[in-house]
Amino acid sequence: MKEKILSFIRQKSLEHSIDSDEDSKYHIEFTTTPACGVRCKYCPQETLRKSSLKFKNINNKSITLDNFKCYLKNFHDYPTLNIHWTGYSEPCANKDFSAMAQHCADLKLEQQISTTLTGFPYNIDFIANNPSFFKSIGLHLPDDAGLMEDGVLQVDDSYLTTLARFLDDFERSSHNGVELRALTFGPSFHPQIEEILANKSHLFAGMSRHRKLSSRSSGVDSLYFRKLWKYKSKSQVATLIKQSLKRIYVFFRPIILLEIPLPAKKCIVKKFGSQPVVLGNGNVNICCHDYSLSQVICNVNNENFRASLRKWRESVLNDFSSGELSPCKKCEFYQPLTFKDLLPKR
Ligand code: SF4
Repeated sequence: MKEKILSFIRQKSLEHSIDSDEDSKYHIEFTTTPACGVRCKYCPQETLRKSSLKFKNINNKSITLDNFKCYLKNFHDYPTLNIHWTGYSEPCANKDFSAMAQHCADLKLEQQISTTLTGFPYNIDFIANNPSFFKSIGLHLPDDAGLMEDGVLQVDDSYLTTLARFLDDFERSSHNGVELRALTFGPSFHPQIEEILANKSHLFAGMSRHRKLSSRSSGVDSLYFRKLWKYKSKSQVATLIKQSLKRIYVFFRPIILLEIPLPAKKCIVKKFGSQPVVLGNGNVNICCHDYSLSQVICNVNNENFRASLRKWRESVLNDFSSGELSPCKKCEFYQPLTFKDLLPKR
């Protein structure tokens, strides 16, 4: 009986932790270079560097076009792949990026990219002139506090010209159905970038100024940035009322919504193997939030990914559902399974 209950809970934990779309469309991220030169203050690049050193040969090279073609073959049994040019570093810093994106377009694979518009200029031009190769293009642009200007990116004439040229080229190219978005972390973009964006706002599906940050499985102190970006309230009374109402809601919410916690865990962003990251030398780390590279499950140079994923999930499911799996243990998205999760879905 006890075994039956445990197996039921494990199954529910799995159901609520993986993307239901996974069988028809699988999302994979590619980290095209072993480290990112932009070094945004809120990105755990130091964690990535230390882990890459600690686990020798895990993340020590950039992807080449030939490697990439070979890696894709080991994902062949997914009916549709969605390639995310995001991973743990800036994709345009890889010299073969445009050739790899062209290869995906030739194979009619869906692609998404997030770029800071740094790296090889021909890669940036390639995206601007072929936007229809991408389902969505995210421009991760500098804030007004200089948090993205610790490394290779400086908001100078050259950077502003690159952004303006990118938007002009994008506008001239055929981009119907492509979702262009701009985002920054902080209350506003750099003032000169705000100006450029305002003139081209008709091109964008959205512009986000994020005041919240995920901790990337504890790789970064998200609370520090939350405080930094906090809204300055005009009235202290209004803030007090808001906070009190929130506390009452948080207290009663579990009862109202049957969110009574059980002694089991789930991943609320459904990333338990649903969006892994392929590193330069073919190793696959299972979660895009984990810069500590703690769950490398296979190498797609010579291992089939889908079979490896199945084996890995089976081997760690006990630890995962009981709340013991690294890197989840350090991640704010690892939340208790609740009574509501046990009910059949409508
Ligand atoms: S590290 Fe966080 S986001 Fe990744 S699978 Fe675990 S709980 Fe989900």
